Amino acid sequence: MLRKQHYYLVGEHGAVKLCHWLKKKLTEGRACYKESFYGIQSHRCLQMTPVVDICNHACIYCWRYQAPQEWPPSPRSSGGWDDPKELIDGLIEGQRALLTGYKGNPKTDMRLWEEAQNPNQAAISLSGEPTLYPYLSELLEEFHKRGFTTFLVTNGTMPEVLENLDPLPTQLYISVDAPNERLYKAISRPYIKDGWERILKTLELLPSLDTRKVIRHTLIDGWNLGHVKEYAELDRIAESQFVEAKAYMFVGYSRQRMSIQNMPSFEKIKAFSKELAGELGYTLYDERPESRVTLLVSDPSTVQVKIPRDL
Ligand code: SF4
Repeated sequence: MLRKQHYYLVGEHGAVKLCHWLKKKLTEGRACYKESFYGIQSHRCLQMTPVVDICNHACIYCWRYQAPQEWPPSPRSSGGWDDPKELIDGLIEGQRALLTGYKGNPKTDMRLWEEAQNPNQAAISLSGEPTLYPYLSELLEEFHKRGFTTFLVTNGTMPEVLENLDPLPTQLYISVDAPNERLYKAISRPYIKDGWERILKTLELLPSLDTRKVIRHTLIDGWNLGHVKEYAELDRIAESQFVEAKAYMFVGYSRQRMSIQNMPSFEKIKAFSKELAGELGYTLYDERPESRVTLLVSDPSTVQVKIPRDL
């Protein structure tokens, strides 16, 4: 089923998929909001996961998979874990294989296509919860050795893993998709009993982690949009340099569970962001209306928003 959805599977649990924005960049010159906010290059981004089939949440808004609620809470197979070096080799090979079709596309910018053969940014976020992969430090280390920047996206339920990560990713995303425990259980539908306590532990840990940190709120109209004071309380614990407020998008398999009314307009996201920025004392620094996302920065006079090239 994953292959039909153009995932390229590597080893036991690894996968890579061309990002929608990588394709847009190649064929239309348009990049994702993370290129405009932080300066990564969409066409050189490797959207991957070390655990495509393993998650401890079954979020109602997940668009990656047909039926995430059917995911098992622990590794399904006893096939073992993939070696980080072999995984990266396989993922790059997969990215190149997936890019082949674009060579014959008359709209493709061939200079960008050539550059895309050598990705330099890993978005560890494709599907599954990456902190459940036991060799995450080794994976990050290997990516950095090969000159990659790394964006690690986690649901925050594994504070003990984040505490021991060495090296840390270039940018660490914590998805905080509920303002309180009641909504957390309704939206994320965790397989684990103490998920909310674990997320709070992660938020408490964040100030001690010396890297770029983003709290991301994916907002669903009628579910978790609003509640600004509660989100602000959580964000204050984390003290991250960045907060992203992003609309839930009515795409992929989430359409089987949600309705188009659940997708907030950009105006609603912006109103939420202004209010949240006011509560936190952050600056509403950037926005991307077409992606319905905003960027709040704790202190733009001291925080370097664009990622330095030598990282
Ligand atoms: S950073 Fe995310 S949205 Fe941007 S190109 Fe990479 S995977 Fe796609």
